[in-house]
Amino acid sequence: ATPTSIMAGSGRSAELGILFKGGEHLEATHRVNVVVLDKTGTVTKGKPELTDIEIADGADEDGRLLARFAAAERRSEHPLAEAIVSGIAARGVTAPEAEAFQAIPGYGVQATVEGRELLVGTRKLMNERGVDISAAEAGMLELEQQGKTAMLAAVDGRYAAMVAVADTIKETSKEAVAKLLASGIRVVMITGDNERTAQAIARQAGIDEVVAEVLPEGKAREVRKLQEAGNVVAMVGDGINDAPALATADIGMAVGTGTDVAMEAADVTLMRGDLNAIPDAIGMSRKTMRNIK
Ligand code: ADP
Ligand code: MG
Repeated sequence: ATPTSIMAGSGRSAELGILFKGGEHLEATHRVNVVVLDKTGTVTKGKPELTDIEIADGADEDGRLLARFAAAERRSEHPLAEAIVSGIAARGVTAPEAEAFQAIPGYGVQATVEGRELLVGTRKLMNERGVDISAAEAGMLELEQQGKTAMLAAVDGRYAAMVAVADTIKETSKEAVAKLLASGIRVVMITGDNERTAQAIARQAGIDEVVAEVLPEGKAREVRKLQEAGNVVAMVGDGINDAPALATADIGMAVGTGTDVAMEAADVTLMRGDLNAIPDAIGMSRKTMRNIK
């Protein structure tokens, strides 16, 4: 590759909002044959809204349940947490300060609020902590089939409430996926979210291959598996939880509307949130390499 064509290609990419960290990444991108997409904030807008709240029988005797729930989530930086906090606030409930807080990446959060132990997150989290969630199962399935992310809350070890949050796909995701598929590239969506929600979102975006319920370390492992099968993999993500996978991939692409951690781990930053930047980046690399040969 001549330095001149790399310079030109980098400049044209930058005009499209595609920032390669170095010329070697612009060169390497033309070899990509599998694109792995994170769901939340990448395929979807990542601006979820609280749509449902269901409180278990007898779980809110003192009327403080939602206030404590919001207090626990207020300390979390997850987009799902923000949706829960603003959704509860919109219902006129003011949250107190949590006494203690801990994020459990890929699972949820744990907090102490007004002397109560709150646990909020996935069914896996509840199962691991021995919380009986049989009363929530049917309702949860129904919400997930609608493409919503349902989360469970336990207070002092007992199931107390279920909330659902809906995140819609970006207007351009379907078009970008179609372009990638048309140019012979395999598209795989990967997410920590549950199988049903993931399938519903993938269907809307025209993606057939889905890996769901993956923990943050698991995303990097899935990328490695694809590489070991002989593929050249581009990983596209926005979150702290995507950083290991972005670093593992042959080309890590950070969505510029996401976290700094993702951008640091990646080789390319896509300044537009629009996934059309992915086929643009690959096209630019192919063109650059053609000029060289
Ligand atoms: P994604 O890969 O879709 O960005 P994550 O790996 O960050 O998702 O999280 C996986 C799942 O863990 C979420 O779908 C949600 O059910 C649960 N979770 C994560 N953070 C929180 C939180 N702050 N509150 C409640 N649930 C959470
Ligand atoms: Mg994400």
